[in-house]
Amino acid sequence: MYRNQPIPLISIQENSHAAIYLHIPFCKQACHYCAFHFSTNLKLKSLVITSMLKEIKLRQNDLQGMPITSIYFGGGTPSLLSLPEIDQLLNQLVLYFPIAPSAEVTLEANPDDITLEKLQGWHHMGINRLSIGIQSFNDTVLRYMNRAHTGAMAQRSIAWARAAGFNNLNIDLMYGLSVTTTQDWSADLRQVLLLEPEHISAYCLTIKPKTVLGYWHQKGIMVEADETLTVEQFEWTVETLCKQGYLHYEISNFCKPERYSRHNTNYWKSGPYIGIGPGAHSYNRLQRQSNIDHNALYVKAIEYGKLPYTEEILTIANHVNEYIMTNIRTCWGCDFDWIYKKYAIDLMYIQKDYLKKIILRGLGYMNDHTLYLTNSGKLLADQIASDLFVED
Ligand code: SF4
Repeated sequence: MYRNQPIPLISIQENSHAAIYLHIPFCKQACHYCAFHFSTNLKLKSLVITSMLKEIKLRQNDLQGMPITSIYFGGGTPSLLSLPEIDQLLNQLVLYFPIAPSAEVTLEANPDDITLEKLQGWHHMGINRLSIGIQSFNDTVLRYMNRAHTGAMAQRSIAWARAAGFNNLNIDLMYGLSVTTTQDWSADLRQVLLLEPEHISAYCLTIKPKTVLGYWHQKGIMVEADETLTVEQFEWTVETLCKQGYLHYEISNFCKPERYSRHNTNYWKSGPYIGIGPGAHSYNRLQRQSNIDHNALYVKAIEYGKLPYTEEILTIANHVNEYIMTNIRTCWGCDFDWIYKKYAIDLMYIQKDYLKKIILRGLGYMNDHTLYLTNSGKLLADQIASDLFVED
């Protein structure tokens, strides 16, 4: 059926395609910073996978036959699934959707789950990109985050992935923790560069409610990282990775030439996608659907042949604001001419004074009708985006 394909160079402009996301809502243990939907109780795992197979069938017409150029197993922890479970999901997708032969097929994996046997199985069944949740190589930092792996396991997992034939790897890293010194972060970056991944996602910690860090923060047990240090770590990351030939194509994402994450780029370019599984989202350019983020209720609804989602019809303001929010974070910038042609909103005129201010403060620059943020501007991207938002 579906076999491993070499990854082609991708064109960022292509948008007559779609993507599929599969949310695997299970984890071995809860990381202290994580607010994603997952359960550490694996009792429902088989039932959820069976329901996801049914959901794929129920959604077979949702993308109207558009070729699927990206499949993404995210979570949660997809590497907790057995090889047959992943193979079943892939086979079901191939049965009901036109998967492009060159599709990017990504699986998120944690180092503690990675074995040579699993790697060979994933490679053989058509997974051609791995996104490995390393976060840090420093054992003290990993323990603070409550990650289930050590730095040594992280290094070993990359070596094994290469040995199994994976030539498209992403490494997730995290900075901006109060326990991470700039020296720790530099050591992590040096380590990751030695491993030469094709893609690096470097996220700044956000302390979210309903997480252990959120609770510690609220109780005053922990303090937030010093903002000056976090800014220094961001700037140092950009400088170091760019010097080593990585393209800084989104605030938190860096890639070797042409090794963009096709999946994330589809989100940022407002491409359509469906999300399968509890808590997954779907988007068809007109509306957004959000599956229920409760494993048992998800299984129950699918048992009755129902898709358990809530729906939001997107207004013009929603579309424009999402475009601004996502594109301003990327190297492709926010194209006001595109907004004008598509939605008849002349933001360049409406916001001319604000844009002048941004440029004068060195936070951004305009090229024709597109706004690009400088590194200083990227640190304020959310604020700048919301200042540009339109109302219905
Ligand atoms: S960060 Fe990943 S592994 Fe950790 S709890 Fe969240 S989803 Fe699970």
